[in-house]
Amino acid sequence: MEFVDEILSILVKAGHFAEFVANSPAEKEEFYIEYKQDLSPVTFADLGVQVIITEWLIKKFGKFSLIAEETLEDAFTHWRKVSSIVSFLNRFGVEVDILDMPKMFIVNKVQPDHSEGYWVLDPIDGTKGFLRGGQYAISLAYVEGDMVKVGFLICPRLELPELFEDNTKGVIFFAEAGKGAWVAPMDDMQRKKRIRVSCRNEFEESVLLSSYESSHTDREKSEKFKECLGITKEMQVDSQVKYGLLACGLGDLILRFPPKEHPDYKEKIWDHAGGTIILEEAGGKVTDLYGNRFGFKPDTYFSQNVGVFASNGILHSRGLDVLKEILGG
Ligand code: AMP
Ligand code: MG
Repeated sequence: MEFVDEILSILVKAGHFAEFVANSPAEKEEFYIEYKQDLSPVTFADLGVQVIITEWLIKKFGKFSLIAEETLEDAFTHWRKVSSIVSFLNRFGVEVDILDMPKMFIVNKVQPDHSEGYWVLDPIDGTKGFLRGGQYAISLAYVEGDMVKVGFLICPRLELPELFEDNTKGVIFFAEAGKGAWVAPMDDMQRKKRIRVSCRNEFEESVLLSSYESSHTDREKSEKFKECLGITKEMQVDSQVKYGLLACGLGDLILRFPPKEHPDYKEKIWDHAGGTIILEEAGGKVTDLYGNRFGFKPDTYFSQNVGVFASNGILHSRGLDVLKEILGG
């Protein structure tokens, strides 16, 4: 894709904006957190990052289709706060006009006359991690038909000493279909490195990456999975950062069951679009718990899929066999 470098620099700016919000403690109590109608948290970072990226899409393409997490309803439920978001962006150096704000949140629409493809954006994936001081990611992807063509994950708090010895904080993963997956320090793109999944073939040695938030999965079933396969190493990490870690061999499996309290929970497209192509281009595999590919279409949910199972590829089919037993029983 011809715009990759431009997108990378917009995403780096968005990543710095998110940290700018996180490091503005004076604002915390008053402005920082709102709860959406489904009671999930949304911050000025979620909304501001969406503005930065959408503004670029508008300037670059004029007309485009976008499926993004933050909607007009979410942004304007507390509409008096919109001027505060604008002032945050202005203080960061992004000039936006308050009158332009509504169009940054007219999303989840695929233009009827623009059927080439659509963008998928999660401005802050892992908002709970973001608020806790943990990991989060900004995720952007471009999808054509049911194929993700490019994907980006910017992880402003991730350190990868195994790859970048000077403990650089903040990295960006990206991949383009057929061209491999890469990671770079977010402030030094010149040091980008091609990444590959691990070649671990023993479950006993493998590292399972799972959600930090217990309420996002069914821990009982995860424990059963670990027990059946002799997995003893688990790392709890928020957001699609897990896909990045798996793609560069710092973990071997990702697993998420629908939570017990929400057995019908459906995965959302923006929680996976960016991460899946990075994993696949790095040689890994991702399916749902039944081994089905995610059904990418311009919609919020993967309505035909259940949960998530991702691996370095080598461990996939044995893992699915065990999942079949767990889900069948
Ligand atoms: P993770 O840290 O992997 O759990 O990913 C965070 C994302 O998971 C959030 O952005 C949510 O969209 C999504 N998510 C998954 N399961 C749930 C759940 N049970 N309740 C709310 N959000 C969930
Ligand atoms: Mg998310």
